[in-house]
Amino acid sequence: MKRNGSAKSITRRRLLDEEEVAAFNHISNGLCRRVQLIRTNLLPPAADGMTIGRFVLMRDDHIEHRQSTLLAHELVHVRQFAEMGMARFFTEYFGSYLKNIVRTRNHRQAYLDIPLEIEARKEAGNWAKGKLAAPVPKSAAN
Ligand SMILES: [Zn+2]
Repeated sequence: MKRNGSAKSITRRRLLDEEEVAAFNHISNGLCRRVQLIRTNLLPPAADGMTIGRFVLMRDDHIEHRQSTLLAHELVHVRQFAEMGMARFFTEYFGSYLKNIVRTRNHRQAYLDIPLEIEARKEAGNWAKGKLAAPVPKSAAN
């Protein structure tokens, strides 16, 4: 594969460690342990993260932000994929986007108004508030 100019194509993959599994308590530990975190600089310019099934793609400069709200957001999408299945997730996600783009004529707004995005923002926001309110226990609760 041809690489673009001087931009290095770095891709690294890892699982969440046990500290992260415990910290991201808004999705189940079992699901958290199956997540593959992929560091890549090959995301679209506007995207900070992207989730496909249990694969979470994040940029170089974000992946080191362990226990970040961005990762919490992407993990909500992992759960949505697990609950809905790939076909239904994509149908609802892009179906909503298309309806929204017709209505708003604005990519950003169409994206923000996707119900699956609204849910992910809300749950990640609540997760972040909870993290501030109470320290995360050392051992993972089931
Ligand atoms: Zn999202």
